[in-house]
Amino acid sequence: MSKEKNRSPSTPHRPSQGGRDFRKRMQHGQQQTATRTPQAPSEPRPGNPSAQPALFLKAGREKSLLRRHPWVFSGAVECLDGAPAPGDTVAVRDAEGSFLAWAAYNPNSQITARAWSWDERETPDSDFFRRRIGAALEMRRALSLGQNSDGMRLVHGESDGLPGLIVDRYGDVLVMQLGSAGAERWRDTLADTLQELCAPACIYERSDSDGREREGLPKRCGVLRGALPENVAVTEHGLRFAVDVAGGQKTGFYLDQRDNRAFTGTLAADREVLNCFCYTGGFSLYALRGGAKSVLSIDASEAALELARRNVALNGGDGKKCEWWCADVFEGLRKLRDQNRKFDLIVLDPPKFAPTAAFAEKASRAYKDINLLGFKLLRPGGLLFTYSCSGGINDELFQKIIAGAALDAGVDAQIVKKLHAAADHPVLLSFPEGAYLKGLVLRVAG
Ligand code: SAH
Repeated sequence: MSKEKNRSPSTPHRPSQGGRDFRKRMQHGQQQTATRTPQAPSEPRPGNPSAQPALFLKAGREKSLLRRHPWVFSGAVECLDGAPAPGDTVAVRDAEGSFLAWAAYNPNSQITARAWSWDERETPDSDFFRRRIGAALEMRRALSLGQNSDGMRLVHGESDGLPGLIVDRYGDVLVMQLGSAGAERWRDTLADTLQELCAPACIYERSDSDGREREGLPKRCGVLRGALPENVAVTEHGLRFAVDVAGGQKTGFYLDQRDNRAFTGTLAADREVLNCFCYTGGFSLYALRGGAKSVLSIDASEAALELARRNVALNGGDGKKCEWWCADVFEGLRKLRDQNRKFDLIVLDPPKFAPTAAFAEKASRAYKDINLLGFKLLRPGGLLFTYSCSGGINDELFQKIIAGAALDAGVDAQIVKKLHAAADHPVLLSFPEGAYLKGLVLRVAG
């Protein structure tokens, strides 16, 4: 944490420009440092903007907020006026003192503030969260995003104007994941609002993402409202998947790949399929239904594979066509190469190798490795469905890595389609980081 953030407004390091709002702040800050007692973090501050603590940015560092990017990095902060607790609302102001946004403050993160609203009249309170969640639900309703599935991402964090909040629906169970101090601060309000607007049988909290460590938040899971049914499942594109809400990965299922799985199914007929990082068998089941000759699925998690086998049975799939390996994919691919096995369609859907750009180099090597092996295992005319869900790897870099892998594998390949997350995972134009999932469908020369 930078010392600058805690400077008192009366230190000589304060911004020296003197706009109208800034002078107001000076008086306000001087009075307050002497008299104000910080409120308890659990108590929302009243709607009076002047009573809110404020975060002042360094001159010129207001640009990204003006472009409506919702993150304020610690390096952009000049000083803090007031004593907000993590998650409390602060007014973010430019060096002149002009209002930029209401944001959730977190001194324990590289992202010191995440913007809730750019409208000075719109301070976050229960009505605000009802409006934002209501808008997220309405967008999905208006676009009929529920027509192929009773599983859906109802709230997609920053891209739905709710930084740090993920809500996934599996039938009548909602899973809520809080990934920021701001979302954490409003946990009860969020749960009440979801209960009111969606009336689910259960709201389960899965606040155990790795990102919470970067936010200085402990992990926490458990039932928030209602009771968790013994069997939770989703039906997507007519296929039924059991979902382990409490023990599965992420919130229990990878809803983002719904339409990409369906697309794979349309190209699987009469093919020998290899599904790497298969989790609970998503791509495998679509391939089977699409008429695949055989499907070999690999995952390192025995629990995931057990559920995958159950999912095949649940859908009346032909278990004899399936082979399941509990193995490390990096090793499994080498074993298949050494056995000289060949496939007609390969899916590579690995976990996040690069959560942030700092991991990009190491992650690039891992992506290249599995894709190079994947290309070598394909028959001429074979298809590779390859994905990256790493925020630290953009589309351009991913394509470059895959091109390098094809070159080293000695194959010519064409991109026949580019894929992204399903529409219930929208990407706010001002927040390109929301486009974390990228996929390429490649056909190697026949
Ligand atoms: N394609 C899946 C989602 C994949 S998630 C779907 O559509 O549902 C990534 C999976 O990779 C997880 O199941 C995880 O257990 C698995 N995994 C992570 N590292 C692995 C490794 N080194 N080898 C094999 N599996 C791995």
